[in-house]
Amino acid sequence: MAKQTILVVEDEQDIAELLQYNLQRGGYKVVCAYTGEDGLDHALDEGCDLILLDLMLPGIDGLEVCRQLKDDERAAAIPVMMLTAKGEEEDIIAGFEAGADDYITKPFRPKVLLARVKAVLRRGPARKVTEDDVLELGPLSIHPGRHEVDAGGQKLDLTRTEFQILHFLALRPGWVFTRRQIVRAVHGDDYPVTGRSVDVQIAALRRKLGDCGDMIQTVRGVGYKMGD
Ligand code: CA
Repeated sequence: MAKQTILVVEDEQDIAELLQYNLQRGGYKVVCAYTGEDGLDHALDEGCDLILLDLMLPGIDGLEVCRQLKDDERAAAIPVMMLTAKGEEEDIIAGFEAGADDYITKPFRPKVLLARVKAVLRRGPARKVTEDDVLELGPLSIHPGRHEVDAGGQKLDLTRTEFQILHFLALRPGWVFTRRQIVRAVHGDDYPVTGRSVDVQIAALRRKLGDCGDMIQTVRGVGYKMGD
């Protein structure tokens, strides 16, 4: 089988080289682009199997590159993995909204990088999520624009924070998020959101979800995920 090609879009040359080295050892062909514009051109003209896209780029940034890729039929189906620096966790949800399929935090561990690249390639691309898109997950329908959730046809009465946590987890079924990532993603103003309060919110959410409550799974020592 031909090697799968990964396009690395990263302006810091040493990080790009480190990614290239590790991905090549993992059996992938790697092409590097050092600006968002070059990355976009390459993805649109040559194609590839996966794009590793740095968030902070000179010129057009990673989020904008991701949006443009997802808006172009030549590249919309290519999965995108965002590269974020530590402390940019709040940008993860913006990345998902721009159409990214996963993210990895720098500095990364090579084993983790390869495992996630492999998982994304196996899963294929996620669809772009917009405010109007209704998210269907088993018996759940989540309406982001209206902040409404139906479970088996029954409308649930969720607080703003509960809704945001559910929506955040439901955007990426199967992915595990830490309490810290959940806190960062949810700017709740009706509750002082801390790691501990995430546990309280999740407990309330599970109760309100009733039979669907066990769709939110605890991953011991890590955080939570939505069962897929
Ligand atoms: Ca950068």
